[in-house]
Amino acid sequence: MHALRWPVVLFDLDGTVLDTVELIRASHAHAVREVLGVELPDEELMAGIGTPLREQMEVFSAERADELFHVYRAWNHANTARLIERYPGVDEVLLELEAEGARLGIVTSKMLDAVELAFAALPPPIVWDVVITTEDTPLHKPHPAPLIAALERLEGTPAESVYVGDSPFDLQAARAAGMAGIGVTWGAFGRAALEAEEPLVVVDTPAELLEALAG
Ligand SMILES: [Mg+2]
Repeated sequence: MHALRWPVVLFDLDGTVLDTVELIRASHAHAVREVLGVELPDEELMAGIGTPLREQMEVFSAERADELFHVYRAWNHANTARLIERYPGVDEVLLELEAEGARLGIVTSKMLDAVELAFAALPPPIVWDVVITTEDTPLHKPHPAPLIAALERLEGTPAESVYVGDSPFDLQAARAAGMAGIGVTWGAFGRAALEAEEPLVVVDTPAELLEALAG
């Protein structure tokens, strides 16, 4: 890598930087089984991934969303260290970007305590310049507010920034914020769902991501 196409690179966390896809799927399955007594297909369990947890629970049951939320979180937190994984090659991309002087941020719909648990289980290879969680803004992805909040902290502009994520909500938020979006296919969503959002590019490997981020 010889130059950075964007000096500010923001990343989604779940399914992009860390492999929490099985953790999330199993947490959802546990919550709807315990609270609602149902088994839902993975596609239904995973449809809202990338939006705040409380909103996803509203979709499963408006009346029992609070209970689902608490049962999900208790199981998820108890099983984070066991089920969370790194994606091979992603840490190397982060280290390369840091070495090139990029300002780097996480913009996630996760709550801060869950982010801290994830980072305790798998310590980041770099120092993140900003971490935006669901508590930081009243509105969430696909709304651009969390991305705008990250740029304010970093004193960056949309034009000099890119957002990398695995969900259509990430790419919608990037477009709404006026910044470039890059979709990655190693997370919870497939290529077709990402391409439908017409991002700058959709990549299949960390090596392709690094190529897309190079000037
Ligand atoms: Mg994600």
